[in-house]
Amino acid sequence: MTPPPGRFPVTPCPIPDPWRERLELSAWERAARGRTRSILPAQGLDCCSNDYLGLRRDPRLAEAGARATSAFGSSTGAARLLRGTTPLHEELEAALAHWKGSEACLLFNTGYQCNATVIPALLRPGDAVFSDALNHASLVDGCRAAKARGAHVGVFRHRDLEDLEARILHWKSRNTDNGLTLVLSDAIFSMDGDAADLPALLHLCERHQALLLVDEAHASGLLGITGAGLAEFQGVKGRIPLLMGTLGKALGSFGAFLACEGALREHLVNTCRGFIFSTALPPSCLGAALEALRLVQAEPWRREKALALAARLRHALGLPAQPSAIIPVMVGEDAAAVQMASHLQAAGFDVRAVRPPTVPDGTARLRITTGAHLEETQLDALSAALKEALRRG
Ligand SMILES: *Cc1c(COP(=O)(O)O)cnc(C)c1O
Repeated sequence: MTPPPGRFPVTPCPIPDPWRERLELSAWERAARGRTRSILPAQGLDCCSNDYLGLRRDPRLAEAGARATSAFGSSTGAARLLRGTTPLHEELEAALAHWKGSEACLLFNTGYQCNATVIPALLRPGDAVFSDALNHASLVDGCRAAKARGAHVGVFRHRDLEDLEARILHWKSRNTDNGLTLVLSDAIFSMDGDAADLPALLHLCERHQALLLVDEAHASGLLGITGAGLAEFQGVKGRIPLLMGTLGKALGSFGAFLACEGALREHLVNTCRGFIFSTALPPSCLGAALEALRLVQAEPWRREKALALAARLRHALGLPAQPSAIIPVMVGEDAAAVQMASHLQAAGFDVRAVRPPTVPDGTARLRITTGAHLEETQLDALSAALKEALRRG
């Protein structure tokens, strides 16, 4: 039971003075960009979450999660290697591998944890990793960890494969000691909603014997004939060596996975600290994800609807078509983006502003998403409200 507010006297915790000063200083620095106000509870019409298929509140997922909890408990109580593995972990890994067209699959507790810890687990001193400039922060943090281990990190211009190739060649010309290369890209870029060219990336990686890791956080469940993602949509299903996906977005559950070959899985089980040193996903998440995976395939109308709504909104706003349910509405100035978001919130649309450092300076934006839970008339009302807000500036 939550105690009523004010029931317990609140005394400030003792924080050493130098630390107190640092907090005050950084609070001052943050004033223009403070995010505390952004932790608003969910409210109004959901136009910004990643619940693309509208499965998050589906009673069938809740029931599947509850059945899994009854059968296997509310927690796994331990890491995978220390009896935290249930039959559901194995069943979900097999189902995800099949769906993604890969030999094997390894579950992770979050996508962040997967990206941040898989990259350093693959690289050694003298190796190199090349990452798209707009890749997700978790991939960036994985690169930082790899760098701390002595790997070279190169950042290539967004979706610019010529720049990528030039960087690989330059690095190879200066490093003749047989270092290995890893290339990282989001499938659908999370803050821009544009897509990588996976066949071209794959071709480039094959030419340079580089290993390719693609993050399908915003593509899994949405794209391709079975909803398996951008690799399926672009005709290279089963050919990307490392394909990461999340369970907490389109799949309406929680967790993440890496679809790959058995030998890569085996390597990661033995070396990846984010896998080894963390309690295994609870049964509720696994049960819900298994049910979601069934629904993704049985109810393709969900992804078709989410994508059709996104195309409709993009068209109404004069934005180019993209195979994604993410619509970035560029504003520019941080304060203007925040103000526009609050106008839209007051009108009943839950739209949030995304500001630096999540996006580059001067590119604050509203990140709008569509999902199967929305209707055309609601989207049209949002589009009218957006145009009005943009006109007012
Ligand atoms: C959300 C996201 C992640 C992190 O996944 P979580 O399971 O939420 O930690 C990783 N990569 C991309 C591109 C994402 O959008």
